[in-house]
Amino acid sequence: MVLEKGSTPYVVVSLGVVVCLLSMVLFASPVEARSTGNNYEDRTTAAKWKCRRAHLLPCDNLLNLEIKQEVVVYSEFKKYCYKRATACAKLRMQERTCTIYSTRGITKSTLIHETNHCYGWEHKGESEEDHRKPWIVFPSFVKFFVRGIL
Ligand SMILES: [Zn+2]
Repeated sequence: MVLEKGSTPYVVVSLGVVVCLLSMVLFASPVEARSTGNNYEDRTTAAKWKCRRAHLLPCDNLLNLEIKQEVVVYSEFKKYCYKRATACAKLRMQERTCTIYSTRGITKSTLIHETNHCYGWEHKGESEEDHRKPWIVFPSFVKFFVRGIL
């Protein structure tokens, strides 16, 4: 950022923006689901359902779980999440809950990513590029959709 002469007001404004952005990250609000264009009437096609642009936008909510966000210490985080992850989603189907764990406030895009897991979607592969490809229904859930249990 280039500061011009008599720039004090700009610095104050910038700080204000930084604080504002930080609070947005810490208090990122829940995301709203959108339609992915899949035909859920025909549940035998569950294996073919796709969610495109899942790295940017919320997918259809297939599971309607109660979603919680928990900020935990690292030792607790490692119990649920891959240790190098920023956050992870833990689905507890019997309790009908999905908890998003992190060690600190998460960004809106991370919240969308983890929420899409809570909605029943999974990415094929772990790279950033894989995350940008269409997401699929959690493979272990497909049979439950096919049988009409989910
Ligand atoms: Zn993920």
